[in-house]
Amino acid sequence: MEKLKNLDKIVMLCKNRGIIFPGSEIYGGMGNTWDYGPVGVELKNNIKRAWWKRFVQESPTTYGVDAAILMNSRVWDASGHTASFSDPKMDCKNCKTRHRADNLISAHSKGKENPDAMSNEEMEAYIQAHHVCCPNCGKCDWTPIRQFNLMFETSRGVTDGDTNKIYLRPETAQGEFVNFLNIQRSMRAKVPFGIAQVGKAFRNEITPGNFIFRTIEFEQMEHQQFCKEGDDHKFYEEYKQKAFNFLLDLGIKKENLRFKDHDKLAHYAKAACDIQYNYPIGWDELNGIHNRSNYDLSRHQEYSGKSMEYTDPYTNEKYIPNVVEYSIGADRLTLVVLCDAYDEETLENGETRVVMHFHPAIAPFKVAILPLQKNLSEKAKEVYSSLSKDFMCDYDEAGSIGKRYRRQDEIGTPFCVTIDFDTLENDTVTIRYRDTMKQERIAIEKLAEFIKEKIKF
Ligand code: ATP
Repeated sequence: MEKLKNLDKIVMLCKNRGIIFPGSEIYGGMGNTWDYGPVGVELKNNIKRAWWKRFVQESPTTYGVDAAILMNSRVWDASGHTASFSDPKMDCKNCKTRHRADNLISAHSKGKENPDAMSNEEMEAYIQAHHVCCPNCGKCDWTPIRQFNLMFETSRGVTDGDTNKIYLRPETAQGEFVNFLNIQRSMRAKVPFGIAQVGKAFRNEITPGNFIFRTIEFEQMEHQQFCKEGDDHKFYEEYKQKAFNFLLDLGIKKENLRFKDHDKLAHYAKAACDIQYNYPIGWDELNGIHNRSNYDLSRHQEYSGKSMEYTDPYTNEKYIPNVVEYSIGADRLTLVVLCDAYDEETLENGETRVVMHFHPAIAPFKVAILPLQKNLSEKAKEVYSSLSKDFMCDYDEAGSIGKRYRRQDEIGTPFCVTIDFDTLENDTVTIRYRDTMKQERIAIEKLAEFIKEKIKF
């Protein structure tokens, strides 16, 4: 099995196979935005669906929410984002490019130094002492570090002079916190319970890049567990495990995943760790799990003036619940799925086959219907219209059957169904397995049940 050595192959494959295109391409692009094509939108939707199934549908004590992207600005004062959601930036005086000081140190030390544990002064001293130069022009002539707020600002109001500054949300979590009481009351929820959300977030990243690893617009899948102080450690450990198992169940290879504890904790946090993935660019964050104490609800109580207390129905005890947060980027997980599934195999005839070994549950198309010849298309379309009631199916009648198989391998379709002349006689088809390339004969009437069984998650 060939380990993917660089991202370029994935980026090219994604573009050529309708998975992901550069954003606004015909206008020269819009840096670090990406559009999901017909194949990619299925993949990402399936990933989000698998996450929702695992963390909402299968959990009797988790409630879903879909909160507004635009929120009252006071939310971001309470959350601390207006004051301190920033990265340490330095500008190169020579070529005027902007860089993150922490990233410069990580890259220069090949990950041996931990800039998260350094103050801005310590980072400046390191950069000077080690002659860390601009990756763009090679000069070592930096401005001092300044904190750069990552929130995108916009304004609300219909007339000039009557506008209010508002922000595109930089995370989905606050939509869960501000609805804590609404959900608790309307759903008669008893602590401990969870609130989950999948939605867009926006960050004016200083150094976005590496395809969909770090973009300025992305989707997050977040789960906040509300619990009583004292139970938080238990839930922190539980969600670490649940998050890890979810990735294994999606088919991500265990050797490409690891936990990494945070070296520097926010003043309110009791514990925090990431699950990292071994990307072609090296080990880096895939998701975070944070034990956040009762900071979030306390801050909203303070800034909104509304009590965030929960009354235990059995003991009448009143308290502000603690929060254990689990947060994962849907796009970053899509990148992980793409990297982990990618494989180049040498076939017996010496040719190379590129194949995406997606878990069948998240594969963009579950089955491709391929008539062996064009004059079999009527029967093939019949099979397509019956299977497409249950599954996302592809239909392809152009080119040699070998080429059509290769194309389906590249987009990770787990099953190809070939319609031949025997099909007209006995209503059977050939089903070909993506991973083994083995083929067998199956009755059309059994196809749907067969596929349903294989794509369970
Ligand atoms: P990073 O250190 O990579 O910038 P973070 O620690 O700021 O991430 P969180 O705020 O904890 O990230 O966000 C939770 C998750 O959202 C991350 O683990 C990642 O999967 C995803 N995410 C965060 N920022 C981006 C981004 N700019 N582009 C894509 N996904 C992102």
